[in-house]
Amino acid sequence: MVPVRSSAATGQTLIGLDLGGTKMLGVLMDERATVQLRVRRPTPSGGEVPVCDAVLDLLAELIAAGKRAGRPIAGIAIGSPGYIDSEAGVILDATNLSVRNLPLGALVAQRFGLPAVIIQDVKAAALGEMRFGAATGARYTAFVNAGTGIAVGLIMDGQLYQGAANRAGEIGHVVMRPRGPLCNCGQRGCLEALASGPAIARQARSAAAWQRPNALLELANGARDQISAEIVAEAARQGDRLALRIIGAAAHYMGLAIAGLINVLDLQCVIVGGGLTQMGDLLLDPIRSTVYRYVLAEYRDAVPILPSGLGIDAGAIGAATALMADREI
Ligand SMILES: [Zn+2]
Repeated sequence: MVPVRSSAATGQTLIGLDLGGTKMLGVLMDERATVQLRVRRPTPSGGEVPVCDAVLDLLAELIAAGKRAGRPIAGIAIGSPGYIDSEAGVILDATNLSVRNLPLGALVAQRFGLPAVIIQDVKAAALGEMRFGAATGARYTAFVNAGTGIAVGLIMDGQLYQGAANRAGEIGHVVMRPRGPLCNCGQRGCLEALASGPAIARQARSAAAWQRPNALLELANGARDQISAEIVAEAARQGDRLALRIIGAAAHYMGLAIAGLINVLDLQCVIVGGGLTQMGDLLLDPIRSTVYRYVLAEYRDAVPILPSGLGIDAGAIGAATALMADREI
């Protein structure tokens, strides 16, 4: 028999906003995560006031669009980088946004008179992947975000695992090579200093200095300081050996970290998302082979490493998923 959904649980429209360090993505979606509208804006620099104004403007635009379409908004959810107090609705510290102690949740709720939640973006994506994305049906899973930074959102027994002080998930600062390159956190050889987008770009720039001619430099029009992770990915797609080696090394460290997660946490699957996964199997295949090699034998063919099912919408849909859990939608 097909279960009949109560009328309160159907036809709800929600706003999810992914507040990134450089871009914001806002979506209007229904309770099945079907996106009806996407709006992108650059994230302004300059700290609390410009960021807050830009968020409120984008939300106002989405609410107006919802009204025009005859869809009143049931609530607003924001995914933000940094250290977030979701209970209080405060961004405590987000270095990428130059924001500290911003009560964005309360400001949004007050301005629009709607329920509002704010949640760390990677945790949001983990929830979104579990309910609507690549981890549907899994109760023990991890969403690894690989981009400018590297972090993980953990789902344990179907619930988001937050840790004692809500700080769980800093896999980017697990030290993989004690005398390795300096990390933003002050340590040497963190996963993030070896395998993030900026780390890949940095390695490619220094390699391009002594290997000439090379595809990396050509793709950057001869400007070594313009070599980015995207350029490394492009060169790798063209079969450039140096680019493939750099990506392979980053993937190796990610694979080691993921193998450790699987061994410790007994996961059913691992989802890899974030900017670097635009490389697709170029990144995922070497991650998979490292995991296969270093994970305990019983996990070898049992724990798939999957690309994000929600893609660029993961943060926005994931934040809305947190709101839906909160409001029992
Ligand atoms: Zn670090």
